[in-house]
Amino acid sequence: MNARPDSRAFSGTVTGREVLGDHLVRVTITDLGAFASTGVPDEWVALTVPGQFQNRYYTVRSFSAGALVLDIVIHDEGLVTQWAQTDCVGDVVGISAPKGSFELPPDASWVVLVGDLTGLPAIARIGETIALPVTAYVETPDHPLSGYTDLPITWVDAPAPEESGLAALVRGLDWPEGSGYFWMAGESAQMRDIRRHVRQDLAMASTAYDVMGYWSGSRGRQRRAVDPGPIYAAGKAAGKSDDQIWDDYDKARGDSVG
Ligand SMILES: Cc1cc2nc3c(=O)[nH]c(=O)nc-3n(C[C@H](O)[C@H](O)[C@H](O)COP(=O)(O)OP(=O)(O)OC[C@H]3O[C@@H](n4cnc5c(N)ncnc54)[C@H](O)[C@@H]3O)c2cc1C
Repeated sequence: MNARPDSRAFSGTVTGREVLGDHLVRVTITDLGAFASTGVPDEWVALTVPGQFQNRYYTVRSFSAGALVLDIVIHDEGLVTQWAQTDCVGDVVGISAPKGSFELPPDASWVVLVGDLTGLPAIARIGETIALPVTAYVETPDHPLSGYTDLPITWVDAPAPEESGLAALVRGLDWPEGSGYFWMAGESAQMRDIRRHVRQDLAMASTAYDVMGYWSGSRGRQRRAVDPGPIYAAGKAAGKSDDQIWDDYDKARGDSVG
């Protein structure tokens, strides 16, 4: 995820904001021009919020009649976290073209889905879309979000705020019989552990699972050495292109480190 996707491929206007839970906010974005869904149920976009040129990835919860719905988890702090807590209706945001990863093998007879709250939008959309028996586990710091989806979900308490115990959960799972597909998303170190587990202990074929790191706990909460906001604003005011502003930002970061 180090590559910079073209997160301003489309711009759209936030036309709705709804609080779904203590840690979840839904935004609806319209006026997206030629934006089109891939139809892959875990597809995501890069979102750039006003005053920033860094982006963050969000699952397309739905795209229908020109309205893109993203469900944003509110962390203790964070760039989009902060923005989503404001009255953002009317804001113009940047959105990349969507990209998906979920790929059901033709012989799959079941699907197991596991994630933390950041994986919930994809888990719900996958479960609502496919016709196979689905078992879904979602780890949450909140009470179960029972109205979120019709898909039956086993809600699991997070061990502590901003922590995840999903690797232990997966290691203790009773897997359905026969061929199936396992999809999982959450904290990157836990995902690495589970990739090893499914490959080495369970001998799953690489086509039978998709385990994705959605965020990194190990990066900690270090503040960025250089705040991109003022650089972005100054660059825009000076009529610079996004690439030129990226160069300014990289230079400022280099200067601050060296
Ligand atoms: C393909 C993909 C799809 C995704 N879909 C969604 C989605 O639909 N909804 C959603 O909310 N997120 C989703 N994410 C995760 C989201 O991109 C990250 O959590 C992102 O870092 C949040 O941005 P932020 O600006 O709020 O926080 P940042 O500024 O990125 O991070 C601030 C701090 O919060 C910590 N942090 C970040 N994420 C988490 C977390 N999940 N739990 C605990 N601490 C965390 C970081 O370690 C950091 O210290 C997805 C990620 C990927 C790769």
